[in-house]
Amino acid sequence: MENNFITGQRALERLLADVKNGTVSHAYILEGPRGIGKRTAADIFARAVHCTGAEKPCGLCPACKMHRAGTHPDILRVEPEENGSVKIEAVRQAADELYMRPKLAERKILIINGADGMTGAAQNALLKSFEEPPSYGTVVLLSENIQNLLPTIRSRGIKLLMEPFTADGIKAFVEAEYPEMREKSGFVANYSGGNVGRAIELCEDGEFFELRNSLIDAAIGLAGSKSGILAAAEVFGVGQRKVDAEYRQTCFDILLSWLGDAVMLKQGGRIVNTDREDGLRAFAAKITASGALAALEDVEETVRGLNASMKYDIWIMNMLIKCWRDIHGYSSRS
Ligand SMILES: [Zn+2]
Repeated sequence: MENNFITGQRALERLLADVKNGTVSHAYILEGPRGIGKRTAADIFARAVHCTGAEKPCGLCPACKMHRAGTHPDILRVEPEENGSVKIEAVRQAADELYMRPKLAERKILIINGADGMTGAAQNALLKSFEEPPSYGTVVLLSENIQNLLPTIRSRGIKLLMEPFTADGIKAFVEAEYPEMREKSGFVANYSGGNVGRAIELCEDGEFFELRNSLIDAAIGLAGSKSGILAAAEVFGVGQRKVDAEYRQTCFDILLSWLGDAVMLKQGGRIVNTDREDGLRAFAAKITASGALAALEDVEETVRGLNASMKYDIWIMNMLIKCWRDIHGYSSRS
């Protein structure tokens, strides 16, 4: 590992090593499933290519700052349409622009996201950039399955297979990119489950952390008097006309991670909510291992059983009452 910016992602390490060694190629193809971090790796690579600092990307030089602001003129992007297709006009235009000399840096980078969505014609429009690239141009294709690319394209790029980022890798990434999230970096790394795109979403989503605070308070409240049930119901949106499905799912996910952590603490396993460990320990001290497990199962059953035809409020109240009983050791389970 040459660069300590991020660890645990060999494709990205290779790209950064090429920058460091001055052996940047004219064409790369990053392959891996959705959400694995292809885009993030390509962005970090582009930033490293343009960076004028010592350790690339340094995050501090003018080029790095322009990248962060999205204003660097020597990076070109093609994004897929909503239906996943990549427009041939967009590819043509970007390929033409690639031939114009870079404005600030020595190298221009063209990133084509969702390259699988290029028709044969669109790929042919790109082929020239692959076959006779300008000395100052690099094309990076992001693909979920390179079998969707023409053999002529496939054979000309350096193929790098993306693996999931490790939790430590995401933690390092979050700390480098979002210094204000340093305290929460361990939680973000665990909660995103190796999905760096998800980690970025979390870092940029203040509302998520507000909701998380409310839900953790609600979960702690369930270990107290019965009024905790109503307080938790309010956070879940019980009594509101319509509760957004995504909001609902986020509530479940947070509650599951909290209750799962309580079980883990009892069993000496790894916890997700590392930044809230003190509160978690206080919560876990009030309940038994079997109580925590039963409450966890109550929530899981509700998530599985819930569907559009059911009355949401009743399900949530039912779940919270069961949780309260289980947490207090009056288990309804047998
Ligand atoms: Zn820099």
